[in-house]
Amino acid sequence: MSIDRRRFLERVVTVGAGSALPGRLAAAPGGASARRFAAASGLPADTGQRAVQIPEDRFDAWIEVDADALAHNVGVVSRLTSGRPILAVVKNNAYGLGLGVAAELLAAHDAIAGFAVVKSEDAIALRESGVDRPVLLMGYAPDAALPELVASRVRLSLYLDDDARRIPDRVPSAGRIPAHVYLDTGMSRMGMPYHRALPWLTDLAESEAFSVTGTFMAFTEETDFDREQLARFQSVVGVARERGIELGRLHAASSNGVYHLPEAHLELVRPGIALFGGYPSRPEEERAVAELHPAVSLKCRVVRVERLREGDSVSYGRSYVAEGPTWVATLPAGHVDGYPRGAVRGARVAIGDTTYRVIGAVSASHLMVELGADPSVAVGDVATLLGSATEAVHPNEVARTSDSSVYDLFMHLDPTLPRIVV
Ligand SMILES: *Cc1c(COP(=O)(O)O)cnc(C)c1O
Repeated sequence: MSIDRRRFLERVVTVGAGSALPGRLAAAPGGASARRFAAASGLPADTGQRAVQIPEDRFDAWIEVDADALAHNVGVVSRLTSGRPILAVVKNNAYGLGLGVAAELLAAHDAIAGFAVVKSEDAIALRESGVDRPVLLMGYAPDAALPELVASRVRLSLYLDDDARRIPDRVPSAGRIPAHVYLDTGMSRMGMPYHRALPWLTDLAESEAFSVTGTFMAFTEETDFDREQLARFQSVVGVARERGIELGRLHAASSNGVYHLPEAHLELVRPGIALFGGYPSRPEEERAVAELHPAVSLKCRVVRVERLREGDSVSYGRSYVAEGPTWVATLPAGHVDGYPRGAVRGARVAIGDTTYRVIGAVSASHLMVELGADPSVAVGDVATLLGSATEAVHPNEVARTSDSSVYDLFMHLDPTLPRIVV
C-alpha cells in the first residue's frame, strides 16, 4: 500500500484541487494575517486560536475554515435582517471553527458589531486574541473572574437577584460596569424571569453600578410560543422604558429567528450556526430562502485500500459483511475527531468527485467506506467527511443521514485538530 512521494504529490494536486493544495495554502487569504494573529495571541495552535499550515503529507484529520464562505454567510444574515448589526455567537470554540480563527475572520466584516460567548474563559480568550469589538458574556461570571472580565471590558449578563450588589462588590473601583440585561421569557434556562423583572430592573438602575448597553432574551424556537415570548419581552421593555430605565439595544434572534421571525430582529441579531453555514431548523426551507455555505470542512487522507472477499466483515461488532468482493478504504478519522458514530446509518464521505457510504462501526480514530468495484481510490487521497465538497457532506446532510444534530456536528469537532484558513 505504499506510494512513492512523487505519485503522492501528483495526487494531492489532482485530487485536492480547491482544498488542501500546499501552494494554495501558502497563498491563502488570511494565512498571513492568521499567522500575525498567532504571534499576537501567543496561544497554542490546538485550541483554534490561530491558523496553522498543514504539512502536505498529513494524513490525520484537519479542519479547513473557509473565509469566503464566512463572508457569504455574514452577507446572508445582513440581507435577511435588513442590515441589522450582528452580535456573532462564537461559543464552544466558535462552533468548531476555532475561536481565534473565526473571530479574526469575522472581525474583518463591518456587519459584525461584536461577539457573544457563554463561558467566561472564552470571553477572556477573545480579548487575549486581540479582538477589540464588544464581547458579551451570556453565561455566569464567577466572583474570581469578575475583576479580569471587567478589566478586559467584557460585557456581563445581569440576571441574578443580587447582581446589583455582588458584581460591584468584587470590582470596587470600576466605575459603571458595562453589561446587558438578560430576561427569561420562557426558556427557564438563563435570565431574570420576566414576571418579576421590573422591580429588579428599577433596583439595578438605582444602583448606578452598570452601564446597560443591551437587553436580551432567548427563544424556545417553538414558533407560536416564540411570539408569546417576544410579547412578554416587549411588555417588560415598554414599562421599563416608560420609567426611564436605560436598556440599551434589544436583541433576541438567533439563527432560527433570523430566518423565521422577522419581528424579532429588533436592534441587533445574535446568530451562531448560520454564520458558520449550518441551517438552524428546516434546512430545505431555509436554503430556499437564502443559501448558506459551510465554513468548515473536516478532512483527512486515505490510509488503506483493500479488497474484501465475500463474507469478510468490517469493524467492531461486524455490522457490515461483504455480500461479494468489494473494495474498502480506511480513513484515519473517527468519533474522537467529532465525526458522528451514527454515520454508519447512511452518511457518505467525498473522495475526489465521488461519495462513498460509511460502513461498519465508526471507531475512535478510524472509519471505513465502501468503494464497491471502484479501485481508483488510493492511499493519500483527500477525503472530505464534512464540508462543502458535495451536497452529501454538507453538515446538515451528514446530520440527517447520521441521525445527529447539526449543532453537535459543528460543536463536537475536536478542538485539538489543526485549523487552516482557505
Ligand atoms: C447559542 C446561542 C445563540 C446562537 O444560536 P444559533 O442557533 O446557533 O444561531 C444565541 N443566543 C444564545 C443565548 C445562545 O446560547
